[in-house]
Amino acid sequence: MSSSRVKAWHLVVAAAPIVIGVYYLLVHLGISPGTQVALYASANLTFAACALVVARRNPGLRTIMLLLAASATASVAGDVIFYFQALVNSNVPYPGIPDICYLVGYPLMALGLLLIIRRRTPGWDGASAIDAAIVAVGAGYVVYEFVIAPTWGVDADNLTRFVSVAYPLGDLMLIVVGARLMLGAGPRTTSLRLIGAYLVMVLFADTMYSVQSLNGTYQAANFLDVFWIAGSFLMAGAVLHPRAALMIKPSNAATPDATTSRLLLLAVAAMVAPTSLLILDARTGEPHVSAAAIVCNVLFLLVLFRMTGLVRAQRLAAITDGLTGLRSRRYFEESLGNEGARAARYHLPLSMLLLDIDHFKQVNDTYGHNGGDRVLVEVTHRLGELIRPGDVVARYGGEEFAVLLPNTGPAQAREIAERIRRGVSSAPIAVAETRMSKVTVSVGIAGMPASATTDELVLAADRALYAAKNAGRNRVAAADEESRVEPLLSA
Ligand code: GH3
Ligand code: MG
Ligand code: MG
Repeated sequence: MSSSRVKAWHLVVAAAPIVIGVYYLLVHLGISPGTQVALYASANLTFAACALVVARRNPGLRTIMLLLAASATASVAGDVIFYFQALVNSNVPYPGIPDICYLVGYPLMALGLLLIIRRRTPGWDGASAIDAAIVAVGAGYVVYEFVIAPTWGVDADNLTRFVSVAYPLGDLMLIVVGARLMLGAGPRTTSLRLIGAYLVMVLFADTMYSVQSLNGTYQAANFLDVFWIAGSFLMAGAVLHPRAALMIKPSNAATPDATTSRLLLLAVAAMVAPTSLLILDARTGEPHVSAAAIVCNVLFLLVLFRMTGLVRAQRLAAITDGLTGLRSRRYFEESLGNEGARAARYHLPLSMLLLDIDHFKQVNDTYGHNGGDRVLVEVTHRLGELIRPGDVVARYGGEEFAVLLPNTGPAQAREIAERIRRGVSSAPIAVAETRMSKVTVSVGIAGMPASATTDELVLAADRALYAAKNAGRNRVAAADEESRVEPLLSA
């Protein structure tokens, strides 16, 4: 069943280039205007139909899908009514009934997207909201400056001006909601990416349409229809995707990471107004306005760099162990999740080692807590020299260390474990200014695919470590041979 649904979403996305090709062929040949309209409307019709199918199949997505379907249907209604009005009277009145249909589509779409956001981040994700506000204000400025203000300034009656301005205001609404959706916490699923692509395409086409209409260069069925048609097919694919329901899975991450692309987007959004002031002002030539605009941009970049530094430092502190400087257990578990998924996807081996210092309590009891700490730091230092650069070493617990070995099979993992065991115990460690003590470790090895999941992997490594301890310490045991290590103890 799931494979037939995979095909379905592929099919609707693949339909886009075909429909667009045939549409422009008819436009080019200047024939069958009815078929042209039908092809154009088929995009939103497909979107609406797919959303209705998903609404029936998936109760959790029902309200969202019904809103999206209603939005797409409103657009189709606008297209069809416009077509028939044009048949009767080549001069279709503006504003008219089609405009009501199109305009109703905006809040319905925005409401649907808002519901997705509310499900993904039930709480108040403040950082994302600020990021979205930055993008929305920057984009809003562009829409205002280049579309809304000139549209409002057009010499027309108030109703015409009001309706003309309502379109870019609808786009602005989608920008605000869309930015919040795309920048909020939660998994970036295929569906979400498709929705993002749809929003970018439609908002670009709408804005270009307004600009072209304002300067009189718009021609019906020009290249902009590509974006509107393709966008709707992408939405059809987004809702039909077999894992579309993941969109509304509540995210457990409090705040999304400050990735480079996010920072770049924020920088562009924040600099758009001063930069356009700079460009527009170059014509009128007010030097102090230009100077202030340049200062705004430079200051913003400096503040952004400063904030990025703070965020990076905070993130590093959160994943670093204070005593040893090793990665924290939290980081190890994150890496394990990523590497485990990668190993499963590409059928690569993955191994992990769990190390525990032998009789560490005695070190503490004999040399004090400071002596114990010295041992931890020196063991860390030796580990650093014994492992390969790409491997993750973490302080897993008090005197327990975990090593993640991506792309490493059981034989190689055992070699590394033995090397570590020998390396740690090779020379005594200074536990005080003048006191040396021999330190040994026991190591448990486990690997995927022998363990099916990362949870099992950790359990298996823990069991293997326990076996190594039971077998007498200062030794290596692998998960698959615990049974061979344990008899050694009873022997
Ligand atoms: P075993 O060979 O069975 O592992 O014996 P052990 O003595 O090492 O036993 P266990 O693992 O239970 O002992 C852990 C000890 O490590 C207990 C705790 O006081 C000590 N410890 C945990 N964290 C730190 C730390 O940060 N510094 C110091 N000095 N000691 C720590
Ligand atoms: Mg321990
Ligand atoms: Mg121990």
